[in-house]
Amino acid sequence: MSNALAHGAATDVGGRNTNQDFFIAEPPLFAVADGMGGHRAGDVASRTAVEVVVQQLGGGDEALTEAVREANREVFQKAGSNPDFKDMGTTMTAMLVRDGSTHLVHVGDSRAYLLRAGELRRLTEDHSLVARMVREGRITPAQAEYHPQRSVLEKALGIGSDIDVDATTLDTEPGDRILLCSDGLTNVLDDQDILRILQEERDPTKAAKRLVTDAVRGGANDNVTSVVVDLPGEPRAPAAGAAPAPKKKRRGRRGLMAGLVLAILLVAALSARAVVSAPWWVGERDGRVTIFKGVSGSYAGMRFVRVQERTKLQLDSLPESTQSDLREGIPAESRADARSIVANLKKLQAPAAPTPPPPSP
Ligand code: MG
Repeated sequence: MSNALAHGAATDVGGRNTNQDFFIAEPPLFAVADGMGGHRAGDVASRTAVEVVVQQLGGGDEALTEAVREANREVFQKAGSNPDFKDMGTTMTAMLVRDGSTHLVHVGDSRAYLLRAGELRRLTEDHSLVARMVREGRITPAQAEYHPQRSVLEKALGIGSDIDVDATTLDTEPGDRILLCSDGLTNVLDDQDILRILQEERDPTKAAKRLVTDAVRGGANDNVTSVVVDLPGEPRAPAAGAAPAPKKKRRGRRGLMAGLVLAILLVAALSARAVVSAPWWVGERDGRVTIFKGVSGSYAGMRFVRVQERTKLQLDSLPESTQSDLREGIPAESRADARSIVANLKKLQAPAAPTPPPPSP
């Protein structure tokens, strides 16, 4: 039993060369930011965003939302002021625990979860292409897990001058445990894995570390970050007759591949009959990723489109499945949304061949 708030955090570079995730776990503020952008721009985006939030937090309930909006402006300005930072952006899932209330704000596909009475509940909705496809009934949540475009974001800090932030005041209970994490974790561990680890490791530092190490061991090809916060008080016991903690489950590579193949087939099937009717969309022109406005698609060969922006992103640097999605067009809600999709497509680029070391004298 604890009368004080307790917390733990961990991060790992995972399968990447640099860690573009950034977190803070200093009561009353907890946050996870997952940066994107070429070279080191992603690190700059996530770090800048968290630092601005820290600076901005003055007081009052609206403060966290306003701080995140200010962080967005700062990252956006930085991105426009230096070619190295062009198109950089970041997710932000942040929680402020102050004066007995817990405020949560969220942009992007990092996540917050609540563990209470032996049950895990997700507190955030992913601002991603696949999440929207699930909401629209085009794919199932299981298919979204393996979808080749699951890292394509529809919203991130730094992409436009203003941003709509999801904000809630949580209805908390004593002993609630809250997890903030980046998508590197949830791409490998499913809800059952997360629930099991959060229940088995009562110490928040151990829980945070084990979530990260299990994701890395499970083959995370991305940076992995977790922040675990235990609110003061005795956690509520699971209801009588509640299901016991789930057994450890391994998602085999074979299952992963089968899922991927299924997802690719599904996307192909969807694309073949899809008419992209969004006013904005991201597609391909002359071998480069291009932002269009208008109506397009493969339907009866009709195309009523206007090129808005040509990017330098080469189509053939992207995975095959993404190339075919781009040929059909990925819908966007606005120019900023389309730019955000392009920024995320860059993350899917095959890594450039390593530069050979200079010959020794
Ligand atoms: Mg990530």
